[in-house]
Amino acid sequence: MAGFESRRAFEHLDKLAYEIGPRLAGTRGERQAAEYIRAQLEGHGYQVKVQEFEFVDKAARARIEALLLLAAFTASLPLTAEASLVAFVAALALSRVLPRAMPKRRSQNIVGVLRSEKPKERLIISAHYDSARCTIDHRLNIFVRLALVPATLVFLICLFARLSGLLPIPWPITWGCLAVLFFPLCGGMLVSTASKHVSPGTNDNASGVAVVLEAARVAAELHPGDVELAFVAFGAEEQGLHGSRAFAAESSGDVALNLDAVGVGSRIYYVEGNGIVGRRRTSSEVNQALVRCGVRLKLKLKPMWAILASHDHLPLLRSGLRATTITVDSPGMGKLERLLSKLGLPNAHARRYKYLHAIDDIPDKIELTNVERVGQIVLEFIKGAT
Ligand SMILES: [Zn+2]
Repeated sequence: MAGFESRRAFEHLDKLAYEIGPRLAGTRGERQAAEYIRAQLEGHGYQVKVQEFEFVDKAARARIEALLLLAAFTASLPLTAEASLVAFVAALALSRVLPRAMPKRRSQNIVGVLRSEKPKERLIISAHYDSARCTIDHRLNIFVRLALVPATLVFLICLFARLSGLLPIPWPITWGCLAVLFFPLCGGMLVSTASKHVSPGTNDNASGVAVVLEAARVAAELHPGDVELAFVAFGAEEQGLHGSRAFAAESSGDVALNLDAVGVGSRIYYVEGNGIVGRRRTSSEVNQALVRCGVRLKLKLKPMWAILASHDHLPLLRSGLRATTITVDSPGMGKLERLLSKLGLPNAHARRYKYLHAIDDIPDKIELTNVERVGQIVLEFIKGAT
C-alpha cells in the first residue's frame, strides 16, 4: 500500500479552511466544502452518496431557551407560587416545542463507499467538515451552559419550598439572590449566540477531513476483501451532531473511526468517553486496536475522557456501532480535571487548543506531522481490518 502523503492532506486542508473558509452548517461555505469532498471521493473511484437532512440553527435555539427561562424567572417575582410554577413548566414545554416550528436549515453528509463483493463487516472512517460560529471564550461558553442546569434546579427547589410554605426567607429576597445567578448566566448565553463571525475551522475540523480524503486516496488501491469501506464527511456537527445522527438513523455499519481536530498539539489521543454526569464510553475493542496500530508505528496513543465535548461517534455508538474518535491536543490538567480525576475519571481532559471555534483557527497553526501521524494510524487500522 502506497503511503499517506501529508502534502496532499495539506492541500485539502488549505482548500477547505483557506480557500472556502468558514463553513457554518446550512450556508454556502458548507455546501462548497461538500461539493469539494464529493468530487475528491468520486475522483478516487468511490461510489458517492449525498445524504441530505434538516436541522434548526443551534444559536437560534439557545437564544429561545435563554429568553424563555429568563421570562419565567422574571415573572416569578410578582406571580404567586402556583402561577410561577405553571409559567416555568410552560416555558420548559415551549423551549421543547418552539424549535420544531422554527425555520429549518439544510445540510448534508458525503458518503464514499468502496464496495466489496460479499461484505462481512462495514468499516467507517469519518470526520465533520462544517465549522463553528465563533465564541468569545469556548470554555466560558460551556461553563455558562453547564451552570444553567444546577441554577435552574435550585430555582425549582426554591419554588417548591415556597409552594409548600417551607421557604425560611421571604420570596423577594430569595428571588434577588437567585437573580444574581440567573441574569448573568442567561445574559452570557445570549451574548455567546450573538457572534456574526464563523471560524475557518482548520484544526476543527478541516484537519480531520484532510486525513479522511488522503486516507481514502490510499485505501482506494486496496483490495477490500470482505470489508466494505466507507469514508464519511459529516455536516452540521457543530450544530449538535446532526450529520452523524442522520447517518446513524439511515445507515448500518460495524466499526467507526472518527477524526476530530487532529492538527494541533503534542499528543495523539483516542477518546475513551464523553461527559461528566451522563457518561458514555467508546468502544474499548476499537481503542485497543488503535493502541496496537500505534505500537506497530512507534506512535503513542493516550486515552482522553472528553469531559466538555461531544463527538460524532456518540450517535453511532447509540445505534450499535463499535465507534471511537481520534483527536490531538496538548496534555495538562486544570482544577476541574484534577477534581474529576480524584472522582474516578483519571483521563479527564478539557481541550487545550486556544483557537477552538475562533477566527484564528487558521492553516498556519497546523503542525503537519500530527496530520501525517494520524493518517498513518488510520491506514494501519484499515490494513488491520481488511
Ligand atoms: Zn470538531
